[in-house]
Amino acid sequence: MTNPAAFPTGTILGYPRIGRRRELKKAVESFWAGTTTAEELEATAAELRRITREKLLSLGLGRTDSSIPESFSFYDQVLDAAVAVGAIPTRFERLIKSDGTIDLGGYFTIARGEGADTPAEMTKWFDSNYHYLVPEIGPETKLHLASDRLVREVAEATASGFRTRPVIVGPVTLLLLSKPSAGAPEGYQPLERLDDLLPVYAELLAALTAVGAEWVQLDEPALVSESIDVPREAVLAATKRAYDALGAAAIRPSIFVAAPYGSLDDALPVLAGTPVEAIGIDLVKGDLPSGISTDKVLVGGVIDGHNIWRGDLEAALASLDSLRGLSPNVAVSTSTSLFHTPHDVNDEPLLAEQLTSWLAFADQKVGQVATLAKALVEGKGAIQAELDAASTALKDRHQAAGVRDGAVRTRAAGLTDADFSRGEYAARLAAQDAALGLPFLPTTTIGSFPQTGDIRKRRAAFVSGAISEETYKQAMRDEITRVVQLQEKIGLDVLVHGEPERNDMVQYFAEHLDGFAVTQNGWVQSYGSRCTRPSILWGDVSRPAPITVEWSTFTQSLTGKPVKGMLTGPVTILAWSFVRDDQPLRDTANQVALALRDEIGDLESAGIGIIQVDEPALRELLPLKKRDHDDYLDWSVGSFRLATAGVADRTQIHTHLCYSEFGVVIDAINRLDADVTSIEAARSKMEVVPDIKSSGFGRGIGPGVYDIHSPRVPSVDEVSELIEIAIGSIPERQIWVNPDCGLKTRGYDETVESLTNILAATRAARAKAGV
Ligand code: GLN
Ligand code: ZN
Repeated sequence: MTNPAAFPTGTILGYPRIGRRRELKKAVESFWAGTTTAEELEATAAELRRITREKLLSLGLGRTDSSIPESFSFYDQVLDAAVAVGAIPTRFERLIKSDGTIDLGGYFTIARGEGADTPAEMTKWFDSNYHYLVPEIGPETKLHLASDRLVREVAEATASGFRTRPVIVGPVTLLLLSKPSAGAPEGYQPLERLDDLLPVYAELLAALTAVGAEWVQLDEPALVSESIDVPREAVLAATKRAYDALGAAAIRPSIFVAAPYGSLDDALPVLAGTPVEAIGIDLVKGDLPSGISTDKVLVGGVIDGHNIWRGDLEAALASLDSLRGLSPNVAVSTSTSLFHTPHDVNDEPLLAEQLTSWLAFADQKVGQVATLAKALVEGKGAIQAELDAASTALKDRHQAAGVRDGAVRTRAAGLTDADFSRGEYAARLAAQDAALGLPFLPTTTIGSFPQTGDIRKRRAAFVSGAISEETYKQAMRDEITRVVQLQEKIGLDVLVHGEPERNDMVQYFAEHLDGFAVTQNGWVQSYGSRCTRPSILWGDVSRPAPITVEWSTFTQSLTGKPVKGMLTGPVTILAWSFVRDDQPLRDTANQVALALRDEIGDLESAGIGIIQVDEPALRELLPLKKRDHDDYLDWSVGSFRLATAGVADRTQIHTHLCYSEFGVVIDAINRLDADVTSIEAARSKMEVVPDIKSSGFGRGIGPGVYDIHSPRVPSVDEVSELIEIAIGSIPERQIWVNPDCGLKTRGYDETVESLTNILAATRAARAKAGV
């Protein structure tokens, strides 16, 4: 390489791609529906990229200094990288065209499946609530440069007078996140293909150079994670090999390796020993590195890309200063891509002005980066006004009414160990058996019933003021009545109300608790075209009034069968919200737990004998570093116990988990001490059962027997088989029969058929057992 261009002093690792009004979502979904063509979708996407570049320019990034990342994706950045290198799952090889590429339709087919061909598996992206598609790479996968999409995007930018910085998942992370293709030999790992993959990346780098890229960003978040199934030495060796090789490429842009989501730890000296030109360090989640000295550009990720607080500019500047002790070349960036944050605080006219002044969404964070970059060049004095404004906002936030609530704090300070424990399980079991009289293999559902278009229409009408609260509530009561009758007809043992009144299992509680705010346009991508609108947990949390009691008691009044109250647990409420960053998560979780404890107490007093507290996100928040696991599991389990430990022995506490593999946290699940735990299992054909068995789980457990992620109706035989597997490993009297998760996204016909089959299989199993 000759005369490398300087790294921009301020940059961001990536920008939201879904659009301020979710334009990309709408465009992609209408392409799927067949109402628009691929050309029209490409045109919309190009327009979004144009708008993004102009926006970033106006916010203070540079037109031609490579500070604007080219970080667009139609669906998922990991799928993009996989497709770019030709890693197409074997079952989709038919999508490969004669020139070795696949088109946009084929790309979406891998993401969404087609007929009997299941989509690429989806899983959590590090410790975020974003989900990526798992690439499949086998010994035979023909790795080659199979897409020029990124090259075209850079060329498109160049043509409009920009020099942007292409972003792609790096080769080590791509392989570490991949799984072996179907049929790969036992023991094979995709990382074995590194030497075949590197020439493909080298070819891509050359092509990017040819269209004007001076810098490329290779994202290597896998280097910070300890939840990777490959020994650390192998990860480090692969890192060295990869970046020595790419660094030696004859024609390439300067290489910026970004490592968001935590400390690089021992990978930092390894990277620093390769020819790459810049290294991105997450100084929000990660620690300031020590003991190295380098002349590479160290890009300090000091602006939190994963949360929405305005943050402390003074502290950010101090971190950058410390970084200068390690390298003479320091630049400023966000800690992660900004695609975890919504676009713009100014899009939230309904948020309280004071709260707004404490927040920074993506656009505001770009502004902060630009401000800090100015200080790096011109000195701190040049941004004194901004520093003052930021510290004024921080002080205001610290002192604001509601951020610290005396009553909440006094209560939390008075907690003792006893508040976190229920009595002996044996006594609880006896009391619950007497109170509930449930049959062998009790059947239940996870809570929600199908959210029909009609339910959503009614809610929208109520929110917009078109119908009165009473009309809305009556409609919901009618729906609950239908759902109860349906469950009685099917023959379920423990009934639910179906959650028709909930827009979202976290937002619903956020709307009813003090200390939370909800946004109008604060969408962030969850996966593909799916977005969520996380609530903002900004203050001390308390419950001004009962939330669910009226719905649960109404439901119980309709039936002689036990009705299960339904709440979302503290960890999940935290995981799916933007949470205050000014106190330990433990403290925040306990406040939420106390609010839920009051709700549970009220449900119990109102005669609800079974209460479920959902914790689907328990695994999701597990820290990437093993050294942080114990503390996390301690407070997360503690908050669940605090929420639920106030009930009498006769009251049966359920919990529910889904969305992940639970092996690593099975002991923690056990420590939740719930009387009954329902857990996603059907999708993986009861993979979790051996873990349950070996953990000595001694209370009720309902491994799911119906994969609710698919419209497929499981046959009676299939369900029977799954029940048999459970009965074969777990003491029978502990077993409950239920679906994998809530039925919210399913249609009524398939739901009724599936539940009917579940009941038939359960009756058969009961008959077989002679009860
Ligand atoms: N009770 C919730 C429901 O049934 C649980 C959802 C979840 O686990 N994600 O919809
Ligand atoms: Zn679930």
